Amino acid sequence: MIDPFGRPITYLRVSVTDRCDLRCVYCMSEDMTFLPKAEILSLEELERLCAAFIRLGTNKIRITGGEPLVRKDVISLFRSLGTRIGNGLDELTVTTNGTQLARHAADLHAAGVRRVNVSLDTLDPARFTAMTRWGKIEKTLDGIFAARAAGLAVRINAVAMKGVNEDEFDDMIAWCGEHGFDLCLIETMPLGDIEGDRTDQYLPLSTVRSRLRQTWTLTETEYKTGGPARYFTVAQTGSRIGFITPMTHNFCESCNRVRLTCTGTLYMCLGQDDQADFRRILRAGATDADLDAAILAAIAHKPQGHDFVIDRRSQKPALARHMSVTGG
Ligand code: SAM
Ligand code: SF4
Repeated sequence: MIDPFGRPITYLRVSVTDRCDLRCVYCMSEDMTFLPKAEILSLEELERLCAAFIRLGTNKIRITGGEPLVRKDVISLFRSLGTRIGNGLDELTVTTNGTQLARHAADLHAAGVRRVNVSLDTLDPARFTAMTRWGKIEKTLDGIFAARAAGLAVRINAVAMKGVNEDEFDDMIAWCGEHGFDLCLIETMPLGDIEGDRTDQYLPLSTVRSRLRQTWTLTETEYKTGGPARYFTVAQTGSRIGFITPMTHNFCESCNRVRLTCTGTLYMCLGQDDQADFRRILRAGATDADLDAAILAAIAHKPQGHDFVIDRRSQKPALARHMSVTGG
């Protein structure tokens, strides 16, 4: 699958649910309305779509959400996709908030998962509860260490928020180094209505990196995980730190991915509205050939890139849909 700008599309992110057991302040509002179950694809429908993408050249799939591990029986999806590793699929990964990871880490590893991204924005228990509105840090930490014990490589994802967790990045680099985790800092993106002002939260990672350089020796590497992060090694710890900078550095020229939501909508770009409705196609009785043709037609409409802006007057986000819908 090659898009109109010559980019091979080899990476599919699949959101398996819009539901979550946390309410991170930058991601959701406290009283989120979730979708009716009938609108959500069954695990069999999700698997069928993933199989079509693999048939057409997708070699990496990341399962995300919402919180993917709160979906009932989600491990069966990992198991069935795992059988395709080495048979079209090179890698199956997951992004999770870690709360259910202690329960699922061994099963994920047995299914063929080797790397997990776990979101952890702070090491401070009270701050964790404030940032997630009610989460307990112990559950996520238990999940992280269970993942490591099960043989999964862990990358910690932290959204950088001005005045909230920016004083902790040195501690987080040291902690990740101590435990053998990579760390990835992410700029906040204006996706979906939350309560409050997003322009107040935004912290450019170019500033963060210059600050970190006062303490740490950072050397840029060629390391890539298929996503948009730019990685540096931290000489003092031997671990890596990645930066995802959708706002300060647009990475669209090397974009290799599309996103499938839990309702079967394929978004060609995280920051644009171009989409295709695969639930309608599936439920109308599409054959495999119909699915393949519909996927290729959708890829032919992948836009060149995104341009996130916040309407400063109305304070409305660039896009109405939340990250938990499209899948991070
Ligand atoms: N629940 C899982 C988790 O938190 O890892 C998976 C879904 S979550 C939407 C995926 C990633 O998106 C997380 O690392 C989260 O921090 C990030 N995220 C959510 N909203 C964001 C926003 N507005 N800007 C930047 N990153 C965001
Ligand atoms: Fe849930 Fe992940 Fe969004 Fe936090 S970032 S509210 S854990 S989906």
